[in-house]
Amino acid sequence: MSAFAKAERRTPDRDEVDPGEVFHAFLERSGGYLKPTDRELLTHAFDCAREAHSGQYRASGEPYITHPIAVAELLTQWHLDAHALSAALLHDVVEDTGVDIAEIGSRFGDKVAHLVEGVSKLDRMHFASREQAQAENFRKMLLAMSRDVRVILIKLADRLHNMRTLGAVKPDKARRVSAETLEIYAPIARRLGLARLVDELEDLSFRHLYPDRHRVLDNELGKMRGRRREILQRLSEEVTARLRDYGVEGEVSGREKTLYSIYRKMVDKHLSFSQVMDIYALRVIVRDQPTCYLALGALHSLYKPIHGKFKDYIAIPKANGYQSLHTTLFGPYGNPVEIQVRTQEMHRFAETGVASHWLYRKPESALSDIQLSTTRWLQSLIETQADSPDAGEFLEQLKVDLFPGEVYVFTPAGKILALPRGATVVDFAYAVHTDIGDRCIAARVNDQLAPLRTELRNGDRVEVVTAPNASPNPRWLSFVVSGKARHQIRHFLRTLKLDESVTLGERLLDQALNAFHHHIGEVNARQWQQLAHQMHLTGRDELLVEIGTGRRQALEVARSLLRIEEADGSVQGLGAITVHSREGGAIEYAACCQPVPGDPIIGLIDRGRGLVIHTHDCPAVLRKRRRTDASRWVDVEWDEHMEGLFPVTIRVVSAHKPGVLAELAKAIAEADSNISGVSVDEADTGSAYTTVRFTIEVANRVQLASVMRNLRKLPEVVRLARTRNASK
Ligand code: MN
Repeated sequence: MSAFAKAERRTPDRDEVDPGEVFHAFLERSGGYLKPTDRELLTHAFDCAREAHSGQYRASGEPYITHPIAVAELLTQWHLDAHALSAALLHDVVEDTGVDIAEIGSRFGDKVAHLVEGVSKLDRMHFASREQAQAENFRKMLLAMSRDVRVILIKLADRLHNMRTLGAVKPDKARRVSAETLEIYAPIARRLGLARLVDELEDLSFRHLYPDRHRVLDNELGKMRGRRREILQRLSEEVTARLRDYGVEGEVSGREKTLYSIYRKMVDKHLSFSQVMDIYALRVIVRDQPTCYLALGALHSLYKPIHGKFKDYIAIPKANGYQSLHTTLFGPYGNPVEIQVRTQEMHRFAETGVASHWLYRKPESALSDIQLSTTRWLQSLIETQADSPDAGEFLEQLKVDLFPGEVYVFTPAGKILALPRGATVVDFAYAVHTDIGDRCIAARVNDQLAPLRTELRNGDRVEVVTAPNASPNPRWLSFVVSGKARHQIRHFLRTLKLDESVTLGERLLDQALNAFHHHIGEVNARQWQQLAHQMHLTGRDELLVEIGTGRRQALEVARSLLRIEEADGSVQGLGAITVHSREGGAIEYAACCQPVPGDPIIGLIDRGRGLVIHTHDCPAVLRKRRRTDASRWVDVEWDEHMEGLFPVTIRVVSAHKPGVLAELAKAIAEADSNISGVSVDEADTGSAYTTVRFTIEVANRVQLASVMRNLRKLPEVVRLARTRNASK
């Protein structure tokens, strides 16, 4: 349901308004700029919306369809195109009735469907938090999700009409909606330069949020209005006369402040009501930009300017494209007079902002200066389609990506996180907390289970699934995009590798000491310290890391510890090191021979990499044996209770016939082994035989043997072998 739930469906009253008449009156009143084909499209959209909303009523008791018509009418003030107006008529159909986007697409085309879908998506977002920073993120999220400026314009018109009819809604709900309007929608409207809309949204919100304050201020203002008008009138006349003296033609008008802006000034600047009301505001509209500066000179010669109050927003426009000169003068009655000087085009833009593109579009003439500058402004905010040939097409096609670098998502608690574009579940998890990142295993994204590498989109609700024993995986580094995630994963892996290197170093050193009939437990703290000092290291752990990562040889360190000269240190062969686990930083399993538990193995201490385990018959071992220092080779053996799965590649030559791959895969699965990769030799195409390489995961040689046995049983299989990775 939309934020403005309606009453139950009921049958129409006899004296109820006829929606058809309301719609036609609207077209008569405000559709002057529309072409006959536009009117046709709108009439179809109206028929569809009327049908879908039939029997639904607003809180005011009016038929629901009067609301979408009113929203469309608001948009005609900005001269929005027929697609946007149709979407406005249909904007609540998807959320509140049985019609879906696909149906709208097939009846009204993709353009209308995209706009309706965009508005419906925004309707599903509800802002709950009271935090300032969260409001900013929420606004950005809405803007980022809108993509097309027209979506946000429809949404703002929807909100304006709902605010105008808020009197029929229960007070607590009216307050909630008003707070949301003040925090979210009015600032968005301001950002898009829709000043008149901002004023009305703020005043309506103020009235419903603080009814008492609103009433008091309204009364006070009523009492002063006559006198203020008089003073403004006199000020205007003096200014007009002075401009004329200077040969400047200009239109001078007094500006009435809105109640909400008076209230904000009182609160923000700690001023009393009468202090705020002492300030008078005028606007001067002149022909062109040079005249703005001439007018300013005239004004400064009339009344003394207040120092530091002059701002040139013509040379440096505000972020939303607003342009004007602002100055404050000492008025004739000792009151400050705030004056804005601008051209007609700057004025239109100041009032309607981004909507002035539709409102003041001149199809046959070239773009005027202000349009060009606002177009430049938009281009800096908006991704335009490269193939838009003319201005009209450009405006029609404009797609907003106000924040192309960021994506905004919800935590389960409703907090909004801003992440870099492309961020995945892992980035999100680390943004929540390092511990969550370190232990994440999956996530629920919008209640759907999703893998860790899932890229997040604006508005996603993300809940991370963690496991107490989970830990970061080096593979995550290939898809995380945030600096924090990258840093934390690297940090974890480095620490892990150091820990494991210490353990391995300890075992290697103990093994070496055993050869001299000693063991590591005998070494006392003083000896460690002495030895480390001698080697320019900080202490025991660093020394062990040096050994574990292969930068120092265990045998040499053992000799130094025992003060044994190399000559008389006859070593009787070292015992074997036991390897315990599959995962880990300091022990690696060679990719060339893919050892699995049960294979005869040998370890090679590799500088920097630690201990690398190969099979005895690995060709790389045979090759390296000849040119590697013997002290780098270590006897290793499998722990009896090895855990984990080991990849191994097998090559199968089988008869080439349909369905054979499935047969092979089934045989592997029946031995409880997973297939993690398959490749088929290209060269075999067209021959009677086919060669398939499977990379499978096994716990040990016994399981590998049962896989091989299952495969061999198949009549199609002609040859079968475990292979060495040829590339390594
Ligand atoms: Mn609505």
